[in-house]
Amino acid sequence: MKHLTYTIVAAISVFWCIAAWAQTDFARVKIKTTHVADNIYMLEGVGGNIGVSVGPDGILLVDDQFAPLAEKIRNALKELGEGQLKFLVNTHFHGDHTGGNVVFGTEAHIISHANVRKRLQLKSPPKEALPVVTFDDSLSIHFNGEEIRVIHFPNSHTDGDSVIFFTGSNVVHTGDLFFSGRFPYVDLDSGGDVEGLIRHIEQLLTEFPPDVKLIPGHGPLSDLDDLKTYHQILVATADLVRGQIEEGKNLDEIKAAGLPQKWRSWGAGFISTGRWIEILHRSLVKAGDG
Ligand SMILES: [Zn+2]
Repeated sequence: MKHLTYTIVAAISVFWCIAAWAQTDFARVKIKTTHVADNIYMLEGVGGNIGVSVGPDGILLVDDQFAPLAEKIRNALKELGEGQLKFLVNTHFHGDHTGGNVVFGTEAHIISHANVRKRLQLKSPPKEALPVVTFDDSLSIHFNGEEIRVIHFPNSHTDGDSVIFFTGSNVVHTGDLFFSGRFPYVDLDSGGDVEGLIRHIEQLLTEFPPDVKLIPGHGPLSDLDDLKTYHQILVATADLVRGQIEEGKNLDEIKAAGLPQKWRSWGAGFISTGRWIEILHRSLVKAGDG
């Protein structure tokens, strides 16, 4: 029975992820390119933001959105230079960050945390779509004149999240640890944890230099102040829901009370205020049980 419950919960979670993008008409999507710093760019289409390093060694991509967008992404890369795609780093396994693997994996080496490969393997994809280099804690890629550090942050948005530091350019791709200006999705069925996420954002805030440029998993190009605001809102909303759980309120009552108006815009994106309260409630209750 327990197994069946897990299966149903997992199926709902997967369905929800797919449903969130099912309405997308990929043919109408335009890829927007933004210069971040030095030889680093950010590409936006639909799904997770893409980071690009382009230079004399060729091209390195961080995440690749969806397979139907691969040709458009390739065209956007051509505008940046004729370099060959050499490496593709997956920040985590979600389909809006790895959907293009099936195309780009035929030409580049895919790198990810070991759990990303494990989770992608569960979907039995063609082998080109799987990372060929995996790591447990961190690795470095020496590319286009700088060290690109890929560091695992366990139990945050999933159990396989990496943050990518372009150390020479002072740019970081945070993956889905950071949803800039909006409530984040935390994948509790895949090792995600709200308190783990908050702890890791705290750690990043102490490590980043003040003028760092941040490519968030979702949302616009950001800076350290944006990450500080995000952290404050995660802490404040978690405290609010935790307090109500401790008062004995159930999820329906907490949802009915809602969150203060001042955070309304944070629920206008992918994760509504109601859904964020559900995630907070489930994660905090689980942590309390543990
Ligand atoms: Zn994600």
